[in-house]
Amino acid sequence: MYGAVREQLTQTLQEIRDAGLYKSERELTTAQSTHVRTQTADALNFCANNYLGYAAHPVVVAAARAALDEWGFGMASVRFICGTQTQHTMLEQRLSSFLGTEATILFSSCFDANGGVFEVLFGEDDAIISDELNHASIIDGIRLSKAARYRYRNADMADLRRQLQAAQSSGARRVVVVTDGVFSMDGSFAPLTQICDLADEFGAMVLVDDSHAVGFVGDGGRGTPELFGVSDRVDIITGTLGKALGGASGGYVSSHREVVDLLRQRARPYLFSNSVAPSVVAGSLAALELVAGSADARAALRRNTTLFRELMTEAGFTLLPGSHPITPVMFPGDDGARLATQIADHMLAHGGVYVIAFSFPVVPRGKARIRVQLSAAHSEEDVRSCVSAFVAARAAVG
Ligand SMILES: *Cc1c(COP(=O)(O)O)cnc(C)c1O
Repeated sequence: MYGAVREQLTQTLQEIRDAGLYKSERELTTAQSTHVRTQTADALNFCANNYLGYAAHPVVVAAARAALDEWGFGMASVRFICGTQTQHTMLEQRLSSFLGTEATILFSSCFDANGGVFEVLFGEDDAIISDELNHASIIDGIRLSKAARYRYRNADMADLRRQLQAAQSSGARRVVVVTDGVFSMDGSFAPLTQICDLADEFGAMVLVDDSHAVGFVGDGGRGTPELFGVSDRVDIITGTLGKALGGASGGYVSSHREVVDLLRQRARPYLFSNSVAPSVVAGSLAALELVAGSADARAALRRNTTLFRELMTEAGFTLLPGSHPITPVMFPGDDGARLATQIADHMLAHGGVYVIAFSFPVVPRGKARIRVQLSAAHSEEDVRSCVSAFVAARAAVG
């Protein structure tokens, strides 16, 4: 009986609205792309994780379409019963050779990969040391494990050292340092070299979630371990197929052979959830071939990011420094949250540019921002239009 629950939920929803935290969804009436249509307007899209423009890339779409004919629509099974096709194994092998690891295991999402990895590998005798800004799925995954939990301030190596010391003094059997390769609200990189140095000093493993890097960060697009030259020092990589690598869905853990073997035996989201759909596997394989086959898209993405950062700085906006295509345009102070929201709204309504404002509690109080995400598929004109829309909105909103 629903009864009093309706009242209670209605009140909770009202509290969310009153706090200004209610999220409404804008429907696209087109494919995901740099140019989209919403129900109200045509828009240049600067808020997707479509870093390489592969979400609707003809080669990726064609591979997925061909797979529908050859491999069918769905798997209707988990992997270990009858849900493993030749191409699932191929994608895992392809990811391993691309990332330079021994083995890879696919999950339905990176959320599931992070949800499954910790419980299997770290038990009550062990310690997990996690950056405070790590993704929600890491936080949840760690909660599912019985290991002791330590948290360090974002990219703060002195604090990481303190936490490693604490874990060591507690007599932990295994210790792992866990970090996002790129922090999604700031577009900043985790200092992987120092993290690996500290981990070595304390005999700890390193896990990097490279969701916002795989495919486009590093010369070969192999992600933050490649960028920092520590590919052979990172023990476990998790990542998504839902961003640069076609953006459909799916995630993975890529690591040492025993780690992956054990996950295949014990990871609950792997054992008890359906296999990645055949067309998604085929499209992801095609996206990976594009990444490995040419540096053009990565170069275009870098060009667009650099141009946007230069033009915005010239126009007098304050950006968080960096080189990642996540480019936070800052609106500091008490009035920042309101300003950022009004500017983003104005940009969509009048400039045809779709960007998203973030404020407390998603980012710290007083650090509101509009997060712009560049894509390789943006043209130079698209980038210039985005900057013009920022300038016009600032003038209009004040
Ligand atoms: C996007 C993201 C995820 C979730 O990936 P999905 O495949 O969409 O579940 C996990 N971790 C990080 C760091 C992410 O940015």
